[in-house]
Amino acid sequence: MELHPSESRMPALPNSDMTERLYYQNSFLYEFDAEVVDSASTDSRPAVILDRTAFYPTSGGQVFDTGWVRLREAIGTKLRVIEVIETDDGQILHVLENSASLAKGTLVHGQIDIERRRDHMQQHSGQHVLSAAFLRLFNLPTVSFHMGAESCSIDLDTKNLSAAQVESAEALANDVVMENRAVSIRFVTQAEARGLGLRKIPPVERDQLRLIEVNDFDLTACGGTHVASTGQIGSILLRKTEKTRQGWRVEFVCGKRAVLTARRDYAVLAEAGGLLSSHIWEIPQQIRKMQDESRSSRKEGERLMEELADLYATRLFAETAEHGGRKFIVRIFPDRDLRFIKLLAQRLTRQSMGVVAFLGAAIDQPALIFAQSAEQPFDMGALMKEILARLGGRGGGSKDMAQGGPAQTEGMEAALATLASRLREQPPK
Ligand SMILES: [Zn+2]
Repeated sequence: MELHPSESRMPALPNSDMTERLYYQNSFLYEFDAEVVDSASTDSRPAVILDRTAFYPTSGGQVFDTGWVRLREAIGTKLRVIEVIETDDGQILHVLENSASLAKGTLVHGQIDIERRRDHMQQHSGQHVLSAAFLRLFNLPTVSFHMGAESCSIDLDTKNLSAAQVESAEALANDVVMENRAVSIRFVTQAEARGLGLRKIPPVERDQLRLIEVNDFDLTACGGTHVASTGQIGSILLRKTEKTRQGWRVEFVCGKRAVLTARRDYAVLAEAGGLLSSHIWEIPQQIRKMQDESRSSRKEGERLMEELADLYATRLFAETAEHGGRKFIVRIFPDRDLRFIKLLAQRLTRQSMGVVAFLGAAIDQPALIFAQSAEQPFDMGALMKEILARLGGRGGGSKDMAQGGPAQTEGMEAALATLASRLREQPPK
């Protein structure tokens, strides 16, 4: 879990030798002029450092802006900015898609990807409002914030979180959105901040703090990009909640993402509703009905299988001739599985004395079951091993019952017939 600057550490305010961060004053500044002060590379990708920038670098939870830098001298040369990184010493690297020589002193015009910035402002500002809502309503502090490509999440420091609490926080957060409260930026000293009742004061040594205030609702230190008024957040939609090691994670989406997420959810529900021929609100009820039906048809299937095994047992017993006081029953079922022949073997050998059964199934995986009635003299486990040595495959078992998975069905029937006839002719003494 990444920590967001608003929840973990305070942004560096620019020193004179550092890039001026234009987004600190204005999140809606999408274009700007600047000068290249240095070139660099990161992970063997080219990057430039500018004297001033409106590009937001990844800082903990809030992800970077993308966009373009255009050379002011050479009209038409537009370089894609694919990532913006803040180094440990506070430098902002604009990573370029293509290698280009941007010498020190080159004059450039920067352009932020507006869609992406707007999305980030919505998610991020929504997070402020949501965190404040959980704190106001239930005294649940936010310990971290994560912004993903699809959804965002906050981690709340709490042992319990109910669905009702989630709904109430969502409702309050959306009220704040609809009230369209002003969101303002100001800079104060640490000492001044202490008297202001911030949601969170970051543990840093820097004297200047950048504060973000949602009028009469939330005041916190943060270095990110925010909307100018809460109405621009659009909407705040809470989704999954899950228990984590330290507390509870609440997933949410804001603004256009909330609409897109709801649109996608609806498409999935509509497809499911179509498959079930029912209204989307009746999908859970339909699924429960289907689960009940599938449970009862499984039970019915099992009952029928037992009935079939009984019938087969009676028939095979009746039509097999006796040799020396016992019946050798050999049968392969091309359209039955292991469960069936196992059941049949039990029926055959437990209901009648003097039965030796060699059964095979060929559906899915080929399978063999050898079984004999109590007090018969053969060793099913040993015979199974003998047959499998010929057919390939693995298996084994006890004296009265053995199971095997031959490598192939070919030769299975002949092998069992030969085995039965040998035992018929040469019973053990
Ligand atoms: Zn923020």
